[in-house]
Amino acid sequence: MPSPVRTLKLPSGEAVAVLGQGTWKMGEDPRRRADEVAALKLGLDLGITLIDTAEMYASGGAEEVVAEAIAGRRDETFLVSKVLPSNASRAGVKRACEASLKRLSTDRIDLYLLHWPGSVPLSETVEAFETLKREGKIRHWGVSNFDTDEMEELVGLKGGGNVQTNQVLYNLSRRGPEFDLAPWCAERGIPLMAYSPVEQGALAHNARLEAVAARHNATAAQIALAWVMAQPGVIAIPKAGRQEHVRQNAAALDIKLTPEDFADLDRAFPPPTRKRGLEMI
Ligand code: NAP
Repeated sequence: MPSPVRTLKLPSGEAVAVLGQGTWKMGEDPRRRADEVAALKLGLDLGITLIDTAEMYASGGAEEVVAEAIAGRRDETFLVSKVLPSNASRAGVKRACEASLKRLSTDRIDLYLLHWPGSVPLSETVEAFETLKREGKIRHWGVSNFDTDEMEELVGLKGGGNVQTNQVLYNLSRRGPEFDLAPWCAERGIPLMAYSPVEQGALAHNARLEAVAARHNATAAQIALAWVMAQPGVIAIPKAGRQEHVRQNAAALDIKLTPEDFADLDRAFPPPTRKRGLEMI
């Protein structure tokens, strides 16, 4: 058995793994499907039980890949999915959630996120999320791609304080959230879920990261991930369609970066010195 994956607490008090599995681009190519399912299953075997998906990915195809991977293992999985802003009305959220549940072959989503801010009043989306919670179709809800001012607006709404996470673009080459969004969330005990933690693979070929990696007998991608997971209150959700990558990502949990590593990484990827608008991929 692998050692248990480190966890952190959602505001609800529930513990979730600090390492999850992303699924963007899965379900797009039938020739890759078996590998994608095998990769997600291996992740579960290694204790990486949080799986992040969305109705948008492969127009629902990624949710179907997830369904295949978690078949018979629903109870050990913490399932995250997302509703598109264009579906964020009262009726739209209900419809979208039911369609996601069907594709995921399950009766509940553990954490349901608004994919990014849109034109439907936020209060209506929050109300719809709270209704889904009462109906047992979702257990928790959160948001994605919300900057600090949008989080402020959210928590000021009735029920808005029930937000469980903000999923944002965050990695060594995208440190903008550290300026005020991450501290704002940390103060309120709201974890950040870092998407594209290896910058869609780009950080896997970074020479400055390779120099640090050599000290740990690791890869550059593992150092990028270890760095994200070392940030307090942050969950990393790399996507890996190859089993070799899943194994490496799980092993990154055991990498302990030293003060020298952190200093070198700060020099190579300086933290922000002023507010920048939240970036999105
Ligand atoms: P990512 O996880 O930073 O990078 C994925 C790429 O890195 C894939 O090409 C993968 O290759 C490769 N990779 C993974 N582990 C590796 C390793 N150990 N060594 C070398 N390469 C490795 O990018 P992402 O997919 O954009 O982000 C992760 C997840 O976040 C998404 O899948 C999605 O679930 C979520 N996301 C959310 C939003 C949002 O708006 N909320 C936006 C973007 C992403 P293989 O697949 O070939 O293994």
